[in-house]
Amino acid sequence: MDYLSPQLAMPPVISLDDINKQAEIAAGMMSSIRSTMLMPRAAKKEPVFGADELSDLCGLSGRGAVAHYIKERPDLPSGMLTTTGRKRHFGLSEARVWVREFQKEKLRPEGAEAITITVANFKGGTTKTTTSMTLAQGLSIQGHKVLVIDTDPQGSLTTLFGILPDLEVEEEETILPLVDGSQHSVRPMIRKTYWDGLDLVPACSGLFAAEFMLPSLQQSNPEFEFWSVLDMGIDDVRGEYDVIIIDSPPALSYLTINSLFAANGLIIPLPPETLDFASLSQFWQLFSQLTGSLLQKRGSDKVFEFQNVLLSKVSKSVTTDVVRQWISQTYGAKVLPLEIPRTATTSLKSAEFGTVYDATPDDLKDRTYKRAREAYDQFVEHIERQIATAWRRQVTQQMKAAA
Ligand code: ADP
Ligand code: MG
Repeated sequence: MDYLSPQLAMPPVISLDDINKQAEIAAGMMSSIRSTMLMPRAAKKEPVFGADELSDLCGLSGRGAVAHYIKERPDLPSGMLTTTGRKRHFGLSEARVWVREFQKEKLRPEGAEAITITVANFKGGTTKTTTSMTLAQGLSIQGHKVLVIDTDPQGSLTTLFGILPDLEVEEEETILPLVDGSQHSVRPMIRKTYWDGLDLVPACSGLFAAEFMLPSLQQSNPEFEFWSVLDMGIDDVRGEYDVIIIDSPPALSYLTINSLFAANGLIIPLPPETLDFASLSQFWQLFSQLTGSLLQKRGSDKVFEFQNVLLSKVSKSVTTDVVRQWISQTYGAKVLPLEIPRTATTSLKSAEFGTVYDATPDDLKDRTYKRAREAYDQFVEHIERQIATAWRRQVTQQMKAAA
C-alpha cells in the first residue's frame, strides 16, 4: 500500500474542541447513569451484630453473657429480637455503646488526642484506599471515633462511602479551603456518614487545584510552609476523635506531602510484586530527600510513632515468595506480621461497593471471605495496639511537662 497516496482516506485530527465535547458527553453520561450507580450504594447499610459476635467484641465469656447484661443493665441498648423471637440483633451504634462500656481500658485515655495515620504509596492499585476504609471501619467497630480524610482528587474513598465525588461534593467541602487559606480548620468540611462513629472529609476532582495553588503560594511567601497546611487544619479537631485516617493520592504530589507530614503513623500497603517493590524503594528515597530539604535544612524536626509495611493482595506464587523475602530483608520490623490475601472480592455480594466490613450475613458463609476478614481483623488489632502506645507516650509527656 502506498501510504502517501492522496486517495487514501485520513482520519481527522482531534482538536481541543473535540476534547471539550468529549468531556461534556462523559459528564452527561455520568449524570444519566447516576441513579444506577447510586442504587446499590444508596442501599448501603451499617452492619448488624448477633449476640455471640457482640459478646466477642466486648470480651465477655460464657454463653448467654449478653442476655445476662440485658437483664442487669437496662442502661445498655437491648437490640432487636428477630422475627422468630429467638435471636437478638444489634445495630452498629448499639454495638459500639456495648464495646465502649466493656472495653474501657482500650479507649483513648484522658489527656490523649487523636492519632493521625496516613496510608501512602506513590504507586496506584496497592490498596491504599481499601486499607484506609477497612482500618477506619475496623477501629470504629472496636468503639473508637474515627475521622477519615480523602486527599486523593480521584475520590475513590469518598465513593466507598456511597458518595459520587464529582456530582455530590463541592470543592469547598474538601480540604481545598485549607489550601487557599479560606478555612483554617477541617471542621466545616466534616460530614457524618452511613457508618456510626465514622466521619468523612470527602474529595472531588476540583481538589487537584491544590497542586497549582500550593507551589504558587510558597513562591509568593517564603514564610509559608506548603507541607503543613493539612497538619495545621486538623489541630482543631484532634481532641474530638480517637483516630484520624488520611488516604493519599498515588503520586508524589503536594497533597501527598501534606498527608505524610500530617501523620503520626504511616501505613504502606505493598503487594509482593517486583514492580511494586521497586517503586517503594523510590518512595523512600524521595521521602528522605523531602524531609532533608523541607525540615532538616530549616532546623525543624518530625517524628513518627510507627511506620508499617502491610503485605496486601498476596497470592500464592513463586514470585510472591521471592519478593516477600526481599521485603522482609529491606523493611525488617516495619513489616506487619500478617498478610491480606488476594481475594476474588467480586464473588461476594456486598464487596463491589464496600469492604469486608460491609459484608452481608451471606458472605459470612464464604471461606474466602472469612480468610480475608480474619486478616483484616488482625491488621486492625495490630494498629490498635500501636495507637495505644502512642497515646501512652502523649500522656507520659504531658505528666512530665506538668511535673
Ligand atoms: P489504591 O488506593 O492504592 O489505588 P485500591 O484500594 O483502590 O488501591 O485498590 C486497587 C484495586 O484492588 C481495587 O479494585 C480493589 O478493589 C482491589 N483490591 C483491594 N484489596 C484487594 C484484595 N485483598 N484482593 C484483591 N483485590 C483487592
Ligand atoms: Mg486510592
